Amino acid sequence: MQKKSKQPNIVFIMSDDHAAHAMSCYGSRINKTPNLDRIANEGMRLDHCFCTNAICAPSRATILTGLYSHKNGVKTLGDQFDSRQTTIQKLLRENGYQTALIGKWHLGDGGHHDPADCDYWSILPGPGEYHDPVMYEYGIEKKVSGYATDIVTDLSIDWMRDRDKSKPFMLMCHHKAPHRPWDPDEKHAHMYEDIDIPEPVTFHDDYSGKAEAAKEAKMRIDRDLNHRDVKAEPPSGLSQKALKSWYYQRYIKDYLRCVASIDDNVGRILDYLDEEGIADDTIIVYTSDQGFFLGDHGWYDKRFMYEESLKMPFIIRYPRAIKPGSVTKDFALNVDFAPTFLDYAGIEIPHYMQGRSLRPVLEGNTPDDWQTSMYYRYWEHLSVEHQVGAHYGLRTHRYKLIYYYGEALGATDAVDEPRKPEWELFDLEKDPYEMNNVYHDPRYAETVESLKEELYRLKQKVGDEE
Ligand code: CA
Repeated sequence: MQKKSKQPNIVFIMSDDHAAHAMSCYGSRINKTPNLDRIANEGMRLDHCFCTNAICAPSRATILTGLYSHKNGVKTLGDQFDSRQTTIQKLLRENGYQTALIGKWHLGDGGHHDPADCDYWSILPGPGEYHDPVMYEYGIEKKVSGYATDIVTDLSIDWMRDRDKSKPFMLMCHHKAPHRPWDPDEKHAHMYEDIDIPEPVTFHDDYSGKAEAAKEAKMRIDRDLNHRDVKAEPPSGLSQKALKSWYYQRYIKDYLRCVASIDDNVGRILDYLDEEGIADDTIIVYTSDQGFFLGDHGWYDKRFMYEESLKMPFIIRYPRAIKPGSVTKDFALNVDFAPTFLDYAGIEIPHYMQGRSLRPVLEGNTPDDWQTSMYYRYWEHLSVEHQVGAHYGLRTHRYKLIYYYGEALGATDAVDEPRKPEWELFDLEKDPYEMNNVYHDPRYAETVESLKEELYRLKQKVGDEE
């Protein structure tokens, strides 16, 4: 093990439902995020970072444990996390780190569902509130005045300021924003008022090139957003198309206003690290628990294995080891985060963790046997209110194969209503927006066969036997 003095601090900032295509460092067409861009410019941007189950609680449990959903017990939003499991926080704390978790937790409240392995924790119960939220500090309820993104940042900076400076630390700073219902703060409430945000290229997807599961899902911009989401009555007399555009503008502007507040607050953390003189000794990460549809395919929400939802933003700065302005297209998964932090902290990675340290990738030395395919699974078959069919699948650099198996299989929150199983195959090189399912195209028959082999190999390798 490395000496303690070599152990870097780790600041892990995670937002909720922030898609990479709403960050200017990822080429956003719709907003600017100067502070997030600073992390990318001074460190590395990962272009192929994927979650293994695109929904809040499961992704969070995977990040904490380095295990897939079927191994850590949180397959759906209805499964509460058993925090007696070994987590990244516990391992770091046992090895001399001070640890804190501040903000969104969303893995259950009370008893062994609370964060257990932190020197300090203060969480938003359940999904949390944007304005004047209740927080549970060591489980004690407190009402805090202000806006959640500011509060979570204030508490994070206060904690770093008051820490024992003779030890390294790991801070998990977890924002509620920009999760539904997208309530901005006063400061950003009038951004974008006089402009129209561009609509995504797949805005009018009619799902004719997708599985029935895509048609059945209830997350359409023009049909499924409610009054609480858009905070206004739609004008009367609009055509169907104009009404869809109206809903999109209402939704996306509030979403981006919430993102603007995150960006400001990430800037405050960066400034704090500079003022404190610890920026060089601190790994800082910005990510989100999964991606999100920003009107893509006519949708909001996530869950599907399609790119916008599968892809996590992941930018990381560590001046001692990561080259500024670097970019990688190598695969990284949320299951890899915990092993990565342990590696940098010089702590042995437990053999049962299912991910692999990203350290060589981050430092520009990707091993020859690095992963070129990934396994994904969404379990909440047809759960209210979005009704996305359960599926598993494989993504390689070129292809994506998805199997909607059409059963609840007893998963929490899943609805026991069978559907006819169906497959999708997308050729991401020819069809990056996933508009044309080529599973039944005879020209892809051999590709399908070899991808299925790889899918079942990975499924077995990660121990998913259902
Ligand atoms: Ca989320």
